[in-house]
Amino acid sequence: MEIAIAAAVILAAVVGFFAWLHYWTKQVVTSQLETLARLPCRSCGATFGIEASQKACAEYVEYCIQRRKERPDLRINFAPRWDIRCPKCGARARFNFESGQLVADAA
Ligand SMILES: [Zn+2]
Repeated sequence: MEIAIAAAVILAAVVGFFAWLHYWTKQVVTSQLETLARLPCRSCGATFGIEASQKACAEYVEYCIQRRKERPDLRINFAPRWDIRCPKCGARARFNFESGQLVADAA
């Protein structure tokens, strides 16, 4: 009986942890997306907007998944940068989602 209770407590803790982790990750990504969406393009001054930001984030995730598939034997440290294209003028920019800043070396 005690073992069953202990198991239930551990299970609840594990489920709670993953629920929290999921929620926390979502919060962080949402705030990064909002930060990027509000930043002005360096070429034309227009803000990037949420749509272009979400696209940049999705492409980054896709890129990481592809690279991992190609080399599952490697542990790759991906640069924390999303490549974004200005929806207004088409200029490319890089967003460091850890610092919340645009990176200078846009290529
Ligand atoms: Zn622009």
